Order: sequence, then structure tokens, then C-alpha cells
Amino acid sequence: MIRELLDFGKPGFEQTYMDLGCPDFLCQKCGSTMWYEERANKPSRPETPEFSICCLQGKVVLDFLKQPPEYLKELLDYRGGMRSIKFRENIRAYNSIFAFTSMGAKIDRAVNFRPGSYVYKISGQNYHRIGGLIPSDGKPPKFAQLYVYDTENEIHNRLSSLKSGDSAKNLDATIVQGIKDMLDVYNRVARVFRMARDRLSAPDNKEVHIKLIGTRSDSSRQYTMPTTSEIAALIVRDFGQSSGRRDIVVEQREMVYKE
Ligand SMILES: [Zn+2]
Repeated sequence: MIRELLDFGKPGFEQTYMDLGCPDFLCQKCGSTMWYEERANKPSRPETPEFSICCLQGKVVLDFLKQPPEYLKELLDYRGGMRSIKFRENIRAYNSIFAFTSMGAKIDRAVNFRPGSYVYKISGQNYHRIGGLIPSDGKPPKFAQLYVYDTENEIHNRLSSLKSGDSAKNLDATIVQGIKDMLDVYNRVARVFRMARDRLSAPDNKEVHIKLIGTRSDSSRQYTMPTTSEIAALIVRDFGQSSGRRDIVVEQREMVYKE
């Protein structure tokens, strides 16, 4: 191999390829798709080879990735036709119109003024901003507010929430509708915000706050968001005593961080 590398590019050097065929074998232990030439215990040539480079012949056991909900699975499927092509081409825009928070970070753009691949560089503390449940007077809803405010026009509001210059015109309203319906079923945080919407539109409408309860210990060095498996609570009016943990509190009209 080293000999080949040293000779690479020299006059008379001929580049050759070795055809290994297709990866037609499955690791019997972990199910990975493998080439026969990747088998363990070479040079023996068993009919059913074992493999080491995937799972050390079964010694390493990893859970399979969780399957996404059926609708998202269809959108991500490269055989899914025009709809999934359109989705994947604009996947970042679809993601951003369903975000609960805006991203607050000091982005260093100077790093991209020189040749090379695009680099996303931030400095200082990275944080996310979340507004009140209801937009300030005259302002259109954004981020989490889109789950709560004026939801009769939600698809239009979400499409309008993209900044000009973004690919709003390329987004498909039926896909936005499909993602919205999926999140309402599968996303616990979305469901909590929907509960807030229902409370706010009730005839005896009271002040509503949402508290996303953090389960991090105080010694945690990361200010991570609660994951969706952690329960988020909706409480009307008064939170009572602080739990002492770092919770995220969304007020009806303004934001409070509890540290
Ligand atoms: Zn394996």
C-alpha cells in the first residue's frame, strides 16, 4: 500500500480498481449490510461469514434508532416521489417554521470570508429565546406562539413566519399541514402548547403560564432543554414555590427565566 502511495501520480503509474461486487451479506449478529471481503477470520471463506468491524462478532450491542412517525418516514424516503423530494430540498425551512424558540448565538461570519467549506462558528454562550404565549400587539405570531395564537390560520401564519429571502415560496402548504398534524399527535411539548391555546380560548379565560420542568441536577454543566420524555406541565395563574431546578417558564405575555 505504501509503495502504491509513493508511486501515485508518477509517470507510468496505473490506477487500478478491485471489484468487490455488491454488499450482499448481512451480519448475523447485528444485521449490518456487509461485503464478503469485510469478513472476520480471513483468509477462511465460510458460506456464512462473521463480521467484526460492525459489532465485534456480536460483542457490541446497540439499540436500533427509533423509527420516526409514519408521515415523517414517508417524507424522508428517497423513493417517496415529488413530495419527499420537495420536502428534503427545503428541510431546514420546514424545520425552522416549527421551532419553538429562536436561536440566540453570536455567529462569527468572518470565518467564511476565506476559501473553503462553509463553517458555522459561534462564540460565547449559546441560548434560545422564547417569547410570551401571545404576540405583542400588532405583531405576527412566531415560534411557540404559532402553536397557541390564531391557529385557525396556522398554516398561513407558519409560511409567513419565514423571513423574506427564505424559501417560503418553495414550501408546500399540504406538507406543512401534515407536519402540524403529526406534531400534534407525537410531540409532547406541542401538545402542552395546544392545551394552553384551549385554556386561553375558554370562556372563563384565565391567565395562563407554561412551565417546562427541567430535571437536570444543579451540578449539571449543560443548560439543556428538557427532553420530550420529561413531562411538561401547564399551570394556571400561580406556580407557588420554585422547585429550585432550572425550569423554563413561558408567561402569557412575557418571558421569565428561573435559575
Ligand atoms: Zn455485526
